[in-house]
Amino acid sequence: MEKIYIPRLLKMPEQKEEIALNHQISGLDSLTPVRGFFQVAHRGNFLELQLQAHTILTLTCDRCLQSFNHRLEVDTSEIILLKEEEPLLSYPLEREIISEDLSETLPPDGELIMDEWIYEQLSLAMPLRILCGNDCQPPAIESQQHSTIKDDRWSSLVSLLNQNN
Ligand SMILES: [Zn+2]
Repeated sequence: MEKIYIPRLLKMPEQKEEIALNHQISGLDSLTPVRGFFQVAHRGNFLELQLQAHTILTLTCDRCLQSFNHRLEVDTSEIILLKEEEPLLSYPLEREIISEDLSETLPPDGELIMDEWIYEQLSLAMPLRILCGNDCQPPAIESQQHSTIKDDRWSSLVSLLNQNN
């Protein structure tokens, strides 16, 4: 997992680092590696992060419960303020409050864990409601009216059920 030591960026040309991405991101169960481009630039009292990346995930449709492949794409940027952490804020409970804050911060002599940030951005880009995109139906078992099932694959089952009624 790539860690970027923040003061090191100041010694880089234009105070920035560009990284081509082509690897699995820990915690993200993707079919393909995350591919794309990551850039972090040191701007004195803040970091400017940019990400253009894509990968393919296998998701389960919320409606029909079938698995399908989804192409996840992000093109995003974020500012992370550089400031010393106050000792009080290092308690886990306090951290949770801080994470609700609009702007993220890192200590100026700290490290940026690239994959963690990328994982966050990809998670934020996930669809809120996961639908396979087909004109899908809920599974038959949840359907109360057998005769309304339109999927041809179920037709023999439907006629069997209707015979029994
Ligand atoms: Zn579906």
